[in-house]
Amino acid sequence: MTITVKKNLVSEAKYALKCPNYMDAEYITIHNTANDASAANEISYMIGNTSSTSFHFAVDDKEVRQGIPTNRNAWHTGDGKNGTGNRKSIGVEICYSKSGGRKYKAAEKLAFKFVAQLLKERGWGIDRVRKHQDWNGKYCPHRILSEGRWEQVKAAIAAELERIGGKKASSPAKTGTKISGATYTVRNGDALSVIAQKTGVSMATLQSLNGIKNPNLIKVGQVLKLTGSSTSSTKPSNKRTSYALPSGIYKVTSPMRKGDDIRRIQNALASLYFYPDKGAKNNGIDGVYGPKTANAVKRFQSVNGLTADGIYGPKTKAKIEEKLK
Ligand SMILES: [Zn+2]
Repeated sequence: MTITVKKNLVSEAKYALKCPNYMDAEYITIHNTANDASAANEISYMIGNTSSTSFHFAVDDKEVRQGIPTNRNAWHTGDGKNGTGNRKSIGVEICYSKSGGRKYKAAEKLAFKFVAQLLKERGWGIDRVRKHQDWNGKYCPHRILSEGRWEQVKAAIAAELERIGGKKASSPAKTGTKISGATYTVRNGDALSVIAQKTGVSMATLQSLNGIKNPNLIKVGQVLKLTGSSTSSTKPSNKRTSYALPSGIYKVTSPMRKGDDIRRIQNALASLYFYPDKGAKNNGIDGVYGPKTANAVKRFQSVNGLTADGIYGPKTKAKIEEKLK
């Protein structure tokens, strides 16, 4: 069933502020609003205010609302005036992410269906879906990231896309290619890098989910997991040993504590999605135990059953190490 979009489009008088450029989109970017407002309210606030920040769609538990035409660019990814995220991607905000819970879950569900519908309409595969964080390192979609579910989210959208008969990958996939939501069966001629392209799941994740040490050693007929527990790191296994997490207590002090040991904590948190990724622009791996690091530690603690005090100590160290395994 097609999802109907309710339009409340920004007036042309505000194009210069909100969506100045023509856009021929190539990607869809997923966001969390970090707010508790409905889609209707998110859109009417966005088109009505005087900030340039803009996005195309907001999705809540009941409906999809649109504020910017999809052939205009929106300012939603923080990668600059000519950034690919801002100039080539359609922004989809998932509402109610601040508090989470039932309404958020329902909003996510509808958003996945809607994104799958957009992909199908455009003849795109799951490889066109990005998270805000991919463009500028911002910790968004925050709820999906802090719950370590990004790969699951992509798999859920891919499954929905398959269900509605969309393309599996933007570039033509080989005939007989089987991609279901959760697994992929290796076909003749598949390399792990090709499978990563087709499924939108990174090679590192495929390796870690399936315990593949040597990517050249995959066999035809082998069933690969595309999703798994959030404990799987997306970094290749050979990088994990390099974290060498420090012992001792770390917290925000004045002056703030600095060092390579803190850098290692930040890198470990980044690989678990609790900190901007190393590869991202403006990344926060600065080796300083400041509020940003304490916040990342706090989020990590709160979703892992630890006291969320933002203080890195033996328990937090042990838990991070467990999650990196
Ligand atoms: Zn965002």
